[in-house]
Amino acid sequence: MDASASGQIIGHFIGGSLSEGDGGRFGPVFNPATGEQSAQVALASKSTVEQAITTAQEAFPAWAKASPLRRARVMFKFKALIEDRMDDLARAISAQHGKLHDDAVGEVTRGLEVVEFACGAPHLLKGEFTDQVGPEIDSFSMRKPLGVCAGITPFNFPAMVPMWMFPVALVCGNCFILKPSERDPSVSLMLAELLKEAGLPDGVFSVVQGDKEAVDTLLTDPRVQSISFVGSTPIAEYIYSTGTAHGKRVQALGGAKNHMIVMPDADMDQATDALIGAAYGSAGERCMAVSVAVPVGDAAGPLVERLIERVRGVKVGAAGDPDADMGPLVTREHQQKVLGYIDKGVEEGADLLVDGRGMSLQGYEDGFFVGPTLFDNVQSDMSIYKEEIFGPVLSVVRAETYDQAVGLINDHEYGNGTAVFTRDGDTARAFANDIQAGMVGINVPIPVPMAFHSFGGWKRSLFGDHFMHGPEGIRFFTRLKTVTVRWPEGIRAGASFVMPTLG
Ligand code: NAD
Repeated sequence: MDASASGQIIGHFIGGSLSEGDGGRFGPVFNPATGEQSAQVALASKSTVEQAITTAQEAFPAWAKASPLRRARVMFKFKALIEDRMDDLARAISAQHGKLHDDAVGEVTRGLEVVEFACGAPHLLKGEFTDQVGPEIDSFSMRKPLGVCAGITPFNFPAMVPMWMFPVALVCGNCFILKPSERDPSVSLMLAELLKEAGLPDGVFSVVQGDKEAVDTLLTDPRVQSISFVGSTPIAEYIYSTGTAHGKRVQALGGAKNHMIVMPDADMDQATDALIGAAYGSAGERCMAVSVAVPVGDAAGPLVERLIERVRGVKVGAAGDPDADMGPLVTREHQQKVLGYIDKGVEEGADLLVDGRGMSLQGYEDGFFVGPTLFDNVQSDMSIYKEEIFGPVLSVVRAETYDQAVGLINDHEYGNGTAVFTRDGDTARAFANDIQAGMVGINVPIPVPMAFHSFGGWKRSLFGDHFMHGPEGIRFFTRLKTVTVRWPEGIRAGASFVMPTLG
């Protein structure tokens, strides 16, 4: 099951079995810590994706008719299997993504929480009922599955992000086709095999590996009813416009630039701890990473002083290093992009306080590492402020007032997560209400909602109407049907030619 061994071909999982498909195209998969290629991933052709859609379409009627309790029981078994295999799953993630082992365990655990939420399907799928909406007339509504649903996911959470989607889709009675990131594709196959072991019928869940050809097939095939996407904003916008133009329901989550405001009354040590973990955890490759710190007024001096010392102490290492705080970036291309942003920040006139360039780790000289980097006096017109870097780079933007700090966040094109650190209840309440972002933390730097709430951003961080998992996930993966019932016994009203009113 460990598809990350050197030279191995990582294929698809269609109709309950592994295959290489007929594409004849492959992409490289790397070990980011060593920089070596560890495997090849098959890139699905249009016909391979069509085969997965056909298989899902065939499996759909029986799965949709299975009782919610039966579907939930598959999830209960899946949950137990994930718990048993937690370390294997985490190792597979680290081998291709590069994140530290404990961080990978955390990722799988956050995905597992959505499986736990999905175990409540019988309760979650209960409809609504009103008796006597009219004389001897009752009305009820039910949530019905959509059919074949697809998910397209990013490299940075190769287990958790797919698990935001498919447990909810499956318990609602849908079939699901996952197109994971081609950078770290193995863990999705392990999840597929665990679902099969948990009793999920063949064809209900498939994995097609691939690139644009696979994605475009999913976006345009009329048999696919919905698209769930997580990735960068330009691709999210493309997915949303193409998917909706082809009549599909689409939720497309995009990039982020998350700000954390530090008020002068905040506990500076607590705020510094929060920033260090939120900016450099997972090497900044998290859509909820804090990449902009906004100290207000007098907070700037003490905060920046603490940050310099702490950022210098962040330890970089490979996934298995128990002392490391963060690992490498995912690919050499991404490493070069992040280094390019650091050069640009210097050119644009920001103060580089801690420089992560030129990092070389003994024994891992070819790994895709970038050291923790800290900029001060970043201005809102600089590219390192406006654009998502997705690496271990924290920018400090100093604000004179709370209103100026809030204005920065509300004017930014992204609106994923944000946080304020303060001891003042009025400030915290105003912030929660006024800020233009989907997920807000009050003295919590990474306010990722639990599985029974829903996850998503505002502005150009989300295209579509629904957040993921939680109640929003149930709504996204079902269609409402409302039934009005009268049994004809006794009442003979005759034909009516006016708009029916039931009161
Ligand atoms: P990406 O947009 O490059 O890729 C995401 C998916 O889209 C992958 O499966 C990829 O194969 C596919 N894809 C890429 N280019 C495509 C194209 N031209 N046409 C069709 N499909 C294409 O993103 P990534 O680099 O894998 O992930 C990092 C990005 O994801 C960051 O921007 C990050 O903020 C974002 N992200 C957002 C959230 C969120 O919840 N909002 C969560 C995680 C990651």
